[in-house]
Amino acid sequence: MQAGTLYTVSAPSGAGKTSLVKALIERDSDITVSVSHTTRAMRPGEEHGVNYHFVDREQFLDMLEHDAFLEHAQVFDNYYGTSKQWVQETLASGRDVILEIDWQGAAQVRRLMPDTVGIFILPPSQEALRERLTGRGQDDTGVIERRMSQAIDEMSHYVESDYVVINDDFDCALTELCAIVAAQRNRLACQQQRHAELLQALLRHN
Ligand code: 5GP
Repeated sequence: MQAGTLYTVSAPSGAGKTSLVKALIERDSDITVSVSHTTRAMRPGEEHGVNYHFVDREQFLDMLEHDAFLEHAQVFDNYYGTSKQWVQETLASGRDVILEIDWQGAAQVRRLMPDTVGIFILPPSQEALRERLTGRGQDDTGVIERRMSQAIDEMSHYVESDYVVINDDFDCALTELCAIVAAQRNRLACQQQRHAELLQALLRHN
């Protein structure tokens, strides 16, 4: 069986990455998203095992010591990491996998697995980003300003990705994301594996 493709999807907080990825995996059953481990506190509406595996610092460091992470990073004041075993098993089963991770994690994954496809999602303007961060209503002004500055740092890494999607209109951005996944599946090497018999049959002279 052909191994799935690994994608990293990075974006500043507030660019709409999580909603876009959620919509993508709802449309396409051959692609799934990795649930990361994090030491950050659960936000209202989040669920353990769905948004993240929420662990304490000690558990995280223990997993790190046991080489359980494909990549990990410190973002804001918390640790985040991707389960190595889950990603490897899911790719081996033929499904595509999305890692919703920051630029530091994406860089680590690219070094380990150079065939990884990097996608960066950007907001249409700084104003729109600020509005989206404020609109969440969960943080005070100081936190929002700090997040804005961190968002700008995160955005500066868009040049390290293979594809850039500007999330101005949600449906357009989703269509673009789906198109990227479709294009990857139509790459020569993928099609040669997936349709080996057909390609041989098409070239047969009777
Ligand atoms: P949040 O706390 O807002 O859910 O996520 C903060 C940042 O951490 C986002 O940029 C998100 O992509 C990143 N992140 C989430 N999970 C992981 C992970 O497993 N590894 C890395 N490197 N970054 C992650």
